Amino acid sequence: MPGYTYPSVAAPFSPPSDWKPLSPAYDPWDPIRSLSSHGRHMLTSVEFTVTHLCNMRCEHCAVGDSLTMTEAPHIPLDVIFRRLDEVEHLETISLTGGEPTFRMETVKEILLPLLKYARERGIRSQLNSNVTLDYERYELIAPYLDVMHISFNYTRAQDFHEVGFAKSGRNVRPDTTAKLYERMINNARRLSEGGLFVSAESMINYRTYNKITDIHDLIVEMGCKRHEVHPMYPSSFASGLPAITRDQMRASVEALLDHRNPDVWMLFGTLPFFACSESPEERGLVKRLMAEPNVTVRNDPDGRNRVNVNLFSGDVYVTDFAAIPPFGNVSKERLDDVFDRWQNHPMQRAINCHCPEASCCGPNLLVNDMYYKGADFMNRRAIP
Ligand code: SF4
Repeated sequence: MPGYTYPSVAAPFSPPSDWKPLSPAYDPWDPIRSLSSHGRHMLTSVEFTVTHLCNMRCEHCAVGDSLTMTEAPHIPLDVIFRRLDEVEHLETISLTGGEPTFRMETVKEILLPLLKYARERGIRSQLNSNVTLDYERYELIAPYLDVMHISFNYTRAQDFHEVGFAKSGRNVRPDTTAKLYERMINNARRLSEGGLFVSAESMINYRTYNKITDIHDLIVEMGCKRHEVHPMYPSSFASGLPAITRDQMRASVEALLDHRNPDVWMLFGTLPFFACSESPEERGLVKRLMAEPNVTVRNDPDGRNRVNVNLFSGDVYVTDFAAIPPFGNVSKERLDDVFDRWQNHPMQRAINCHCPEASCCGPNLLVNDMYYKGADFMNRRAIP
């Protein structure tokens, strides 16, 4: 196992100084890298669902239906470490929930051991958090973490209140949520100042599509190194929300590209726009995204180079939110074997296209289902 160089006192959350920095040229979560180097999709990434608890109930939550008020014990981490050891090409892990830091026990007994494992093995880690809880728990994790991924869809505390507690089922007071909003911003800023790579994700939906540039400005002010942008898809809690048209979405992305701070990495994902599109406007946007400096379009990892493991049941999913039942269980199988079985599944084979000239490996299942029902991606090609 490689050793690593400890960061400086001034930036205690910086990654080891001899590690290759994450950048538009180096995004180990993008499945196009392993597809290009191995000629087929490989398992390089494992995501863990570490909790179903959360202090928020966002109206768009992609796992909202699985959130609970109490939860069972985790499966022993020894089993997980053994399964991770077996993943030959492992490059990244992601930790998600719920809010992974909701319970201090989870922080100490689950998050820290997994993050330390990743550091010792030389692989990159991401934590998906709302960073609304006390700073001390994030400070514990940050020295071992590569990417703190937060959601940010707001221009003011009132947006946060309306979006973040829409599904709480009780009356949450605006002055209470305003304090959480302030704490989230302060935490993101302090972690960034400490050298942590904070990546803020916004979703383009009916609330945000016409103010995404204002959201971007706040993300830049918080010191985030990356702004990640995804359309909202009708999964779980989001399934009842109004949809926007593809044209509205395209206009929103164009406005963001016109307005953005060029020093901040913009990462787009799960866009429904492809180089094989019949629409010249959509192909134009795809070309623009490829040409803009400091802008990347990440192919979706789910089922391409990543599986999701539920840390309570050991079940293995190909995505943490699509309505596909578990594909295996860590108690019985190697993760590489579960992943290989998924690669032969008709659902995966139907969208397993690849156009190297467009750095594209097809739509994900949700994009395909929402915008391209009946399309035959295996017979499409990028249009020059
Ligand atoms: S890889 Fe698939 S989705 Fe992407 S441009 Fe080619 S055919 Fe279209």
